[in-house]
Amino acid sequence: MEKLVCALRERGIDTRESCSLVQFNTFRVGGRARVAVFPHTREELIDCLALSSEAGVRYAVFGNASNVVFSDSGFDGVVIFTFACRAVSVDGNAIIADAGVPLGKISILAQENGLVGAEFLYGIPGTVGGGVFMNAGAFGSSIEGICAETEYWNPQTGKIERLCGAEHEFEYRTSAYAKHPERILVGARFVMDGGDRAESRRKMDDFMARRRNTQPLDLPSAGSVFKRPEGYFAGKLIEDCGLKGYTVGGAQVSQKHAGFIVNIGGATAMDIKRLVRDIRAEVLQSFGVNLECEIRFID
Ligand SMILES: Cc1cc2nc3c(=O)[nH]c(=O)nc-3n(C[C@H](O)[C@H](O)[C@H](O)COP(=O)(O)OP(=O)(O)OC[C@H]3O[C@@H](n4cnc5c(N)ncnc54)[C@H](O)[C@@H]3O)c2cc1C
Repeated sequence: MEKLVCALRERGIDTRESCSLVQFNTFRVGGRARVAVFPHTREELIDCLALSSEAGVRYAVFGNASNVVFSDSGFDGVVIFTFACRAVSVDGNAIIADAGVPLGKISILAQENGLVGAEFLYGIPGTVGGGVFMNAGAFGSSIEGICAETEYWNPQTGKIERLCGAEHEFEYRTSAYAKHPERILVGARFVMDGGDRAESRRKMDDFMARRRNTQPLDLPSAGSVFKRPEGYFAGKLIEDCGLKGYTVGGAQVSQKHAGFIVNIGGATAMDIKRLVRDIRAEVLQSFGVNLECEIRFID
């Protein structure tokens, strides 16, 4: 690991040892990463991946860590955060973005350039890499509707390879990247139709207002905890079990939206895990519905 740290630093890559993960995830939980790395360009990201792979150490890649729960015992390996890899450009009706570009930036750029179809991304606090991985979506749209092509680093070949259209195998909250987590997305190309800028802006503002009205945006969380079960809404099932406000340690079922767990202060990953277990058991017992987690526990 020492050699790897030296090699990363020699290349000028921001590398921190024994790095607390708390400030680098939206739930504000987790222990320390043995090493955390913050590449600022696509080239630096590829260097981090190649060097970590060559060194034979455990590594994992995150964007804004807005859909994950880091373990209280931290991560015994290298955590690579892409959120500083933010190069993005517009080319006709396409937006070409590095892995770490915020999803909200894609919707803003699209709107400014008269491209429609990315409004739903406004307000999702993730990055391009995490968004494609999860097939992020909201208000009836998801990233599969605009994602034409992605490039990824393949550890088997050490090369950059490409996925186009249907090769992404997008389904509800999953993609080829979730099925092959060893592939690390380094960039994506989104294609949209031209349309009315004012209408696009109106939609974005409407979506944001709806989020503010219904979601607990004032407290740390990772968004909706569970996938939408066929024929139901997870939040409604949880609310109907009387679990709004139910608390384990510092983790609480949001009073505002029962589909969210919020950190009301000092929550641990274990608190969140226990709360998830209790919610699932209660919903299964009351409604016979097996809730599946959308958030990922990183152990
Ligand atoms: C307040 C709030 C509201 C939210 N609203 C929504 C919503 O409306 N719709 C929705 O879908 N989600 C929502 N989310 C969840 C989350 O923001 C999205 O799932 C987002 O797409 C995750 O992106 P990320 O960059 O934070 O991914 P991370 O949490 O960093 O990572 C998620 C997964 O993707 C993998 N990954 C990340 N980057 C890469 C990469 N470059 N290559 C390969 N794998 C990668 C990680 O290893 C991990 O397994 C919300 C979250 C919050 C906190």
